[in-house]
Amino acid sequence: MIKTKFVFVSGGVMSSVGKGIAVASLSKLLQSKGYTVCTVKCENYLNVDAGTIRPTEHGEVFVCDDGIETDQDIGTYERFLDRSLSRDNFITMGQIYQTVIERERSFGYEGEDVEAIPHLCDEIIGRIKQAGRKMKADIVVIELGGTAGEYQNIFYYESSRIMKLRDKDSVLHVHVAYLPTPPSVGEMKSKPVQTSVHILNSIGIQPDFLVARAQHEVDKKRRERLAMFCNMDADDIISNPDLHSIYDVAIKLDEQDFAEKILKKIHLKTKSKDLTDWRKLANVVKSVEKELPIAVVGKYFSTGDYVLGDVYVSVLESLKHACWLNGVKPKLYWIDSEKIEADGAEKYLKGMAGMVVPGGFGSRGIEGIIQAVTYVRENNIPYFGLCYGMQLATIEVARNLAGLKNANSTEINPKTKYPVIHIMPDQEKKLLSRDYGATMRLGAWDCSLVKGTKAHEAYGENKISERHRHRYEFNNDYKTKLEKVGLVVSGTSPDGHLVEIVELKNHPWFVGVQFHPEFKSRPLRPHPLFREFIKAAIFNLS
Ligand code: GLN
Repeated sequence: MIKTKFVFVSGGVMSSVGKGIAVASLSKLLQSKGYTVCTVKCENYLNVDAGTIRPTEHGEVFVCDDGIETDQDIGTYERFLDRSLSRDNFITMGQIYQTVIERERSFGYEGEDVEAIPHLCDEIIGRIKQAGRKMKADIVVIELGGTAGEYQNIFYYESSRIMKLRDKDSVLHVHVAYLPTPPSVGEMKSKPVQTSVHILNSIGIQPDFLVARAQHEVDKKRRERLAMFCNMDADDIISNPDLHSIYDVAIKLDEQDFAEKILKKIHLKTKSKDLTDWRKLANVVKSVEKELPIAVVGKYFSTGDYVLGDVYVSVLESLKHACWLNGVKPKLYWIDSEKIEADGAEKYLKGMAGMVVPGGFGSRGIEGIIQAVTYVRENNIPYFGLCYGMQLATIEVARNLAGLKNANSTEINPKTKYPVIHIMPDQEKKLLSRDYGATMRLGAWDCSLVKGTKAHEAYGENKISERHRHRYEFNNDYKTKLEKVGLVVSGTSPDGHLVEIVELKNHPWFVGVQFHPEFKSRPLRPHPLFREFIKAAIFNLS
């Protein structure tokens, strides 16, 4: 095993320019050269994890096997690297402060004056190295949250500086910065990037590479100017223009030998060159034309004038993976369930190939979702319910097939006469004591599948493991009653106690899962349930 190398990636000029995708693509590329790579995300916020942050503010909460609730970037890394990550790969400033303060309280610093520098930085460096060790990584790529020049991330930058100072042959700094092309000027401007690099310089960091994110290819003139003013070799400026899809980024970086250049600076050789499957995928993404109309029904889809697709990024990606495999691309209709409450389901769902109800919390828009489920059940439209989507489908069946009038989840109506979805006693205790952080049923749980069901057929296995994030569960008191009207419990916890998957008899494809399969779909390995759902949706329209 080689000595672990560390590649830090910072952002410049502005946020949301694709730093996460650049990091994931670079990691993918280094992996394709024959190295074991892992990625670490450093968040600036003081939340200990992402679990308690409002979705409209944060986007998706991505869950790993070990139950850590993280940022959507971790999902991107998992999908690109086809590797499962864990809490070792997700650092927040909250975790750093919490650990240092707890250590101080238990006299862990033995009377020292505990300071941000070096103690916070030591903790950050220790965690980054630990991620590399635990994942047996040759190369750790670390994404620094935010952009250069913020106060909030300064300890991460300082940690990267210290690591490089201690071992300059093993540590590199890549700066991903944006070159705007103001419409009024019509020309790509490099000054903001120069300023951003100067900010890095002022905190003791000279980037080794600059990734020039821009609408267009960075041209020779600007490359030379950037090299001159940023104190770099023109060859070390990598062009990263807007591309057809996120899968093209690794290919674009590869054209410029980015990985080879990095490996050379950290004294490693290129061991292999295998980006074949990735290239094939990028080609499929580019060439697939046929669109499959899929309805995604839920709430939270808009804030102000914007649709919040980000909240369900893994669902969206999973649908895409499954569609591409089947030679189509999804045309998604994000349907706000409150609109269904007002106008009825038919207006929005007629002609859809399939419908997905993703995870969610609380009671807003719930009746609209239940109405939508009735529509697809009665009209034989394939249905896939994810977590809340499984619970609401159960409620629909209870109300409309089993005659349990006003059946509900105790999350929505604690006093319901028929609590077909209810809270587990230990979860209730946590809620009563406001113990909200990391207390749901989280992470990977085993599930035994029942032969002869759609779920068993899709997975082709008797036992699976899937990731969870919820407090409420199927109430076994109603199992027999619901089975009598056609509900099939096709997956349970190995002890048979927790219902994990339900299906409907006499329907082309109606499956609800208590877990989140979207967290395990990978572009080159679509999730079996998404794959089968899409197959059924295609069949429905054919
Ligand atoms: N609100 C439901 C629960 O807590 C479902 C959660 C989800 O969809 N992730 O059980």
